[in-house]
Amino acid sequence: MSIDIVDKAMEILKRYPLCDRCLGRLFGYLGKGLGNDERGKALKLVLVMELHRKLQMNEIDLETMKLILLNAQREDFLKNLGEHIEDVERRRCYICGDLIDKWIEEYSQKIATIIQNLKPKSFLVGVSSVQEYVVKEDMIAREFGLGYRENIKRELKREIGKRAAVLTGIKPDFSKPEVIVIIDIAIGSVRIDYPSIILYGYYWKYGRMISQNIWITKSGKMKYPLSVEDIVKFVSQQLKADRYRLHIAGREDVDVRVYGSGRPIAIEFKTMDKNIDMELVEKYLNSVSPWLQFQIKMKVNRAFVIRLKEGARFSRKIYRAIVYTSTPITSESLQKLEEVFKDRVIEQRTPTRVLKRRKDKVRRRKMFKIKTFLISPNLFEALIECEGGLYVKELISGDNGRTKPSFSDVLGCDARCVMLDVLYVHEYI
Ligand SMILES: [Zn+2]
Repeated sequence: MSIDIVDKAMEILKRYPLCDRCLGRLFGYLGKGLGNDERGKALKLVLVMELHRKLQMNEIDLETMKLILLNAQREDFLKNLGEHIEDVERRRCYICGDLIDKWIEEYSQKIATIIQNLKPKSFLVGVSSVQEYVVKEDMIAREFGLGYRENIKRELKREIGKRAAVLTGIKPDFSKPEVIVIIDIAIGSVRIDYPSIILYGYYWKYGRMISQNIWITKSGKMKYPLSVEDIVKFVSQQLKADRYRLHIAGREDVDVRVYGSGRPIAIEFKTMDKNIDMELVEKYLNSVSPWLQFQIKMKVNRAFVIRLKEGARFSRKIYRAIVYTSTPITSESLQKLEEVFKDRVIEQRTPTRVLKRRKDKVRRRKMFKIKTFLISPNLFEALIECEGGLYVKELISGDNGRTKPSFSDVLGCDARCVMLDVLYVHEYI
């Protein structure tokens, strides 16, 4: 052991009392294969010898030596040196308060009991609420310029995992564990989490009054008879998954159907079953209602989901709207409509109908083109290609001037969307 290391340890211990493990961890990347407790204990032993030498050579005064030994929690050596000291109170470790060995012992026992019941093939330990200890440790590392230390979170995960593995014979797995056991140091709890399995695909909504999420009214009733979430929840139960989550690229109103390409969706299940059968999931998804159908394409990761949600804000969509007008219109006025809305930026204030839930602001969204078909003097069909995030119903009505321009403006009468379908959602991933 180099004297530099001992000198450094001495400097640290002059200022902070540290237990074997916390001192050892500050030098954690030196001397592979050692536990931090061994490393710290060894450092302290060499330190005692060095202090003894320094004292004999008059290189150190008694007071400084006393201070270092007390902070090293080696008051026993003071007695060995013939120093008469009263029973001094053992100084608690500045970083962990002398709790780290207790944590390792207790949590590995708790985890062993839990995983013995669950019997996963592998597990991983996660640690939360250690911030206050991390802060202290970081401070010491900065103060003394320590570039080879391990951090407390990593040590706890490793040591607890190692012991629980010995107790149970179940292996820790750092990349693909079957279960994750998360300990919370602050409240002393242990909970089980599962790695996520995320399946990507599309859904088609062939009926109206179907919401994306389960919507419970104030009186505790279901607002709509069916939702995308209802179906995912059912599948999650079939798979015996612990939890589920939906990540959907954009959102349509409950009365809007989804045809054509379908809408991209990622479904996340938290389950111990790694080998989730995608065909089976698809079968379950499609077994609930003919009004909602799904196709599962592939497994994806978290980064994919983030891209999916980000992209949906602007990705291109095609809608089909049936528009009713207050006065009869002609093919000429529809032609004008097509011209006005070709490559046009629409300025849209948050629609009146969603003002209660959303912030009032102006959005600018692009219209690429529209194609119209006159059905009867007061009714026409419009195919609308636009950027995601445009409120199509308001594009048609104008929402009392909050959306500009609108179909109502251009046609010179009240236009209203009576039916709306999504035909295409561009996969922006
Ligand atoms: Zn400690």
